[in-house]
Amino acid sequence: MNNIILESTLVCPVCGHSKTEQMPTDACQWFYECESCHNLLKPKSGDCCVFCSYGSVPCPPVQNQDKHSGCCE
Ligand SMILES: [Zn+2]
Repeated sequence: MNNIILESTLVCPVCGHSKTEQMPTDACQWFYECESCHNLLKPKSGDCCVFCSYGSVPCPPVQNQDKHSGCCE
């Protein structure tokens, strides 16, 4: 196993609220509701999950260079 970071700080593009969240290792998280403004965040096109789009750290499958295997699509 590589050193995979399992925590990512998500920053809401609407209100700027940031929150550190634990990332699931076996699935991508498509939706994330900002706890501050309750806007439902979705990944930007080309990104597989909200952590890749809005997080400080990309999701574990991407960190593992194992992009799109077992995750996404
Ligand atoms: Zn927000």
